[in-house]
Amino acid sequence: MSETKFAPRVFSGIKPSGGLTLGNYLGAIKRWVEMQGESYETIYCVVDLHAITVWQDPKELARATREVAAGMLASGIDPEKSVLFNQSQVAQHAELAWIFNCVARVGWMDRMTQFKEKAGKNAEKSSLGLYAYPSLMAADILLYHATHVPVGEDQKQHVELTRDIATKFNHDFGEEFFPLTEPVIEGPAMRVMNLRDGSKKMSKSGESDMERINMTDDADTIAKKFKKARTDPEPLPETLDGLKDRAEARNLVDIYASLSNQSSEAVIAEYAGAGWGKFKPALADLAVEKLSPIATDMKRLMDDPAEIDRLLGRGAERAREIASPILDRTHEIVGLIRS
Ligand code: ATP
Ligand code: MG
Repeated sequence: MSETKFAPRVFSGIKPSGGLTLGNYLGAIKRWVEMQGESYETIYCVVDLHAITVWQDPKELARATREVAAGMLASGIDPEKSVLFNQSQVAQHAELAWIFNCVARVGWMDRMTQFKEKAGKNAEKSSLGLYAYPSLMAADILLYHATHVPVGEDQKQHVELTRDIATKFNHDFGEEFFPLTEPVIEGPAMRVMNLRDGSKKMSKSGESDMERINMTDDADTIAKKFKKARTDPEPLPETLDGLKDRAEARNLVDIYASLSNQSSEAVIAEYAGAGWGKFKPALADLAVEKLSPIATDMKRLMDDPAEIDRLLGRGAERAREIASPILDRTHEIVGLIRS
């Protein structure tokens, strides 16, 4: 496929399945903001249809949708530079997802680790939507012919599946219609780990509040959570190699690196030999310095929910303008009449 056929366009989304975490910020939103100034058209979405793949209280879903939008805006997503909307206002996502349900294979879905993790032992009782989630995600991306998707490491498999769906569609219908989208997984904090268990990722839907930093946490809470974060008794080593089997320690170094826009190597060089009594307070101070202004701005935005709704509505209009011709052409290719 020629590189020039598809204009550089970024799509990414976050589920309103709870409040935003430091993982969402460092793994996704921070990169999204940086990509706005580059030569891409940028489309960012609060993916509410993905959130309802597990039970959401309706009032809380609406609140969380506005909070996630507020978090994006407060972090620097500019609704003049980017298209920002909530997924369910653009019906084309669900329409294309159905077509992709008929392209994707059951065997592909069976290999998705996110479904296994989220369904747990009770897979039979999970929603059909949770199983089909990656097909909707492929529709989110391909509805805009997005060429790049900035995500955390945990979403890599789903972006690969999106490429598989595009490849099969293009092959089955004999037309190079959908691009092969590239995941953009960059920076030292592509996979921020749970503060209480370094073998699990930090998630907004995780059980305990102590395992994550929320974007709305105040300075004392942030300091307390880092202070109580699980580590080992060793001081920080001289080089990154020394953190090989120390997942919790590595996580805190990576978070520091990402928040301060440095490499993890540079952080180790600065703190070689330091104990946790020195490093954790420095990390907490840095996190408060970076996150407090965002939290303050989120609060201000949340005081005016009608304005958030207005921005999302306007973004949805712009999104539909891009999506409609692509979905119309998809129907035509498949042989679905629109008269
Ligand atoms: P949930 O627990 O409901 O799945 P989540 O915290 O995993 O919530 P998502 O909405 O699933 O958040 O993901 C939004 C974006 O944030 C994705 O790009 C995802 O890769 C990224 N992300 C989520 N958790 C992390 C993490 N721990 N580290 C880095 N990136 C993350
Ligand atoms: Mg997730």
